[in-house]
Amino acid sequence: MITVSGKDKSRLTEDDLIVCSLDGKAVDSDRIPSAETELHCHLYRLDDEIGAVLHTHSANATVLSRLADSKLHFERYEMQKALEGVKSHTGSMDLIILENNQQMWAIVRDLRERWDAGDVTAPGFLIRGHGLYAWGRDLFEAQRHVEGLEFLMTCAWQERLAKQ
Ligand SMILES: [Zn+2]
Repeated sequence: MITVSGKDKSRLTEDDLIVCSLDGKAVDSDRIPSAETELHCHLYRLDDEIGAVLHTHSANATVLSRLADSKLHFERYEMQKALEGVKSHTGSMDLIILENNQQMWAIVRDLRERWDAGDVTAPGFLIRGHGLYAWGRDLFEAQRHVEGLEFLMTCAWQERLAKQ
């Protein structure tokens, strides 16, 4: 299921979700799925373990993705444990950044290249100047990953400001 295009995400009802095939076509509906359906569907096709994908347009994700080269690096944050499989604050993690493009297929292509290269090690990625994608085995886990990654980006931004 995916949200229909152009809906206020804070006021969604059951009626604003439509069933799509994995190639992004609405099933039994003439409504138009989200403009970014192709990218969502590609993630489901990349990994059978992905059961839910969420996408946000926060200021954190927008600004930080414009400042870094190809990834954000986090280390020694307790909140890294919000991500599935992370048991300690002592490790590090990278959140890759893909170039934004109004052609969704171009972002899909870049994601596929980075995925195949083994660069996608966190359950999410950034699109430069645009926002965050994060996923999980279910909606609950995907939401935890969004909240954890957004918190980490808030910290990274605050650290940059504090160092100036
Ligand atoms: Zn978006």
